[in-house]
Amino acid sequence: MPPESRLATTAGARAKGPLGPLGLLGGTFDPIHLGHLRLAEEAREALGLAAVRLIPAGQPPHRGAPRSSAEHRLAMARLAIAGNAALEVDDGEVRSSDKSYTVLTLERLRAELGPARPLVLILGADAFEGLPGWHRWQELFELAHIAVANRPGYAPHGRRWPATLSPELAAACHGRHRNDPADLATTPAGCVLPFDMTPLAISASLIRDLVRNGHSVRYLLPDSVLDYIAAHHLYG
Ligand code: ATP
Repeated sequence: MPPESRLATTAGARAKGPLGPLGLLGGTFDPIHLGHLRLAEEAREALGLAAVRLIPAGQPPHRGAPRSSAEHRLAMARLAIAGNAALEVDDGEVRSSDKSYTVLTLERLRAELGPARPLVLILGADAFEGLPGWHRWQELFELAHIAVANRPGYAPHGRRWPATLSPELAAACHGRHRNDPADLATTPAGCVLPFDMTPLAISASLIRDLVRNGHSVRYLLPDSVLDYIAAHHLYG
């Protein structure tokens, strides 16, 4: 095979086309931090994604009200991705008056992007394990692939995914488990693929606690977000 043809089969080359798999990373982003950004960046690279869309939740259904308003969380997400052409921010959940159910967002994106585009829902392992509590969760597998990243502190008994799955999640994942990211580009939805990312024990709750207690959060999130938090007196 000539060198150019070999190159054309790499995940990187596949990702170049505008119709390559699109990664979707939802979250409260209260605030967005380097754990989120590395998750998006490493998923993009490891899974051969054309781009990753960050989707801040307007009214997150699975937790209490966020500390910061949706507008602040959206503004921080936009600041955080500035300068990275492969990352986008989707304001659909913030603008919607519905609860931020992922299944509704995926239906909206399917309507926008068409039935053929591979969509890859990116979840940390903690979020994935909570999936059976989500609204119409079993339909998510019909709408997108799911890529699951390791997250420090979420490997019960030292076992790694998929050994940690609850019986109902394991049943829903039956036959869907893939290890080759190339499979994500060949169908629009339906695969579940674990991937490794640099373990970063950063969480938004840790950042909120540190700010509230007057400690530095520098180097846990982008400076632009740090400046925004200071300028708007968030989390104090
Ligand atoms: P909080 O501490 O307020 O619960 P969080 O830091 O977990 O927030 P979310 O906005 O709830 O952030 O997370 C959005 C997504 O990002 C989830 O899928 C979550 O698993 C993932 N995620 C967040 N932080 C990390 C991290 N450090 N490493 C891997 N995944 C992460």
